[in-house]
Amino acid sequence: CKSSIPPCDFKPEPYQVRGLYLRVTYYKKPVFINQGYMQWLWDVDGRRYLDLFAGVATVSVGHCNPKVTETAEKQLRRLWHTTAIYVYPQMQEYAEKLASLLPDPLKVVYFTNSGSEANDLAVLMARLYTGNFDVITLRGSYHGGSPQATGLTSNADYKYPIPSSMGCHNTMCPDVFRGLWGGSHCRDSPVQTIRECSCSPGTNTHTHTHTHILSKSICFFLFSGHCQANDMYIRELNEMFATTVPSRIAAFFAEPIQGVGGAVQFPKNYLKDTYQLVREKGGICIADEVQTGFGRTGSHFWGFQGHNVFPDMVTMAKGIANGFPMGAVVTTAEIARSFGKGVHFNTFGGNPLACAVASSVLDTIKEDKMQENSAEVGTYLLTELAKLRDKYEIIGDVRGKGLQIGVEMVKDKASRDPLPPEAMAEIFEDTKDMGVLIGKGGLYGQTFRIKPPMCITKNDADFFLAVFNQAVQNYMERR
Ligand code: PMP
Repeated sequence: CKSSIPPCDFKPEPYQVRGLYLRVTYYKKPVFINQGYMQWLWDVDGRRYLDLFAGVATVSVGHCNPKVTETAEKQLRRLWHTTAIYVYPQMQEYAEKLASLLPDPLKVVYFTNSGSEANDLAVLMARLYTGNFDVITLRGSYHGGSPQATGLTSNADYKYPIPSSMGCHNTMCPDVFRGLWGGSHCRDSPVQTIRECSCSPGTNTHTHTHTHILSKSICFFLFSGHCQANDMYIRELNEMFATTVPSRIAAFFAEPIQGVGGAVQFPKNYLKDTYQLVREKGGICIADEVQTGFGRTGSHFWGFQGHNVFPDMVTMAKGIANGFPMGAVVTTAEIARSFGKGVHFNTFGGNPLACAVASSVLDTIKEDKMQENSAEVGTYLLTELAKLRDKYEIIGDVRGKGLQIGVEMVKDKASRDPLPPEAMAEIFEDTKDMGVLIGKGGLYGQTFRIKPPMCITKNDADFFLAVFNQAVQNYMERR
């Protein structure tokens, strides 16, 4: 790639590789990471990579962020302990800080060590509170790998041929690009979206204006306020209540933007309408903010705020502590009381070290304006990626908000058939070889995922755009 890697003063330490590694990895030859600093990673050979995946949206404020590292070092010298028996200032201070970022009445905080544990706890509380058992999630979602969370998860890659968690049902995902009813112009993303003319006039009644470009029948739509695709997805959910789900349920879970599913976005009112329906059926509404929380979507601190809804419970992990193991559930006092006689026991959840780190992450997001940076650099990336989408036949969709971005690859724009895995791998490897790490996702592995540490700069974005453009061009020339 002609574009050169942005400069960085950090000097990594060398590491001599020994023995074998056994873990299956993303790449043909595993990327053996030795050190990290902010948005940068160095492998054992001293090669530097721009990390645009951040351990799946986990390293929120940068690898070894100096402020967070300093806090962790101080806390290591002061106290590291379990959680289960005593209380600590760090826990109290952090719970207060976290709760202050959520709307009333979401004020009761429980700590766990991971997102899966947080979602397990959320299911337990929802069942105890409502007295109902069944839980609904969206197809394509990922909510964790514990036996309970595997039931919530709806992606066959993470399922095993043994029963996973009774009472979990998956409704159709309102995927406005790949789904049955379209509607990609009614999602909340800074980039204007495109659809082929032929798919739309017959199947929906949106007000739209046509602008024919690239001599292909592609048109821009202007969203007029009411989304017919949304009506269809809500109808589908209603049908579940008439067929496969009991009339009273415990909960509905959704990520505000599906992460593992490939940055899938829903029509604007989908969560609002679904929350209303779920509450009519006795259930509570749970927002899984494991990937979308902590300012990543740029416009808001929490992803659900972008949908204009108020969940009854919010689960979080990953970016909460910049990669230090930590998770949390925040809910209302009324729901928390349903715990009644039971004790929420978790040896490490919310231990003093984790709380000190998480607290420092919150401070860093605020002081270093990382949410604002997510909005600015994310919008820039989305806008520039949309230009590549218009340039290349195999880039079907660019979507997302802030630094939660998906680039869905297709065989061609007319069929929208997923780009096959071998082709995805070629572009992916090429991108890595030119110095940028991104992720893959989607039900067919057809979507590149970009969710970097929230400290990346416009310069870094330009470097990635040049590299990605080159990788796609290389593939197009080879095929
Ligand atoms: N929810 C979402 C949305 C996730 O992306 C993940 C992890 N990929 C989880 C839950 C589970 O988190 P953990 O791996 O920390 O158990």
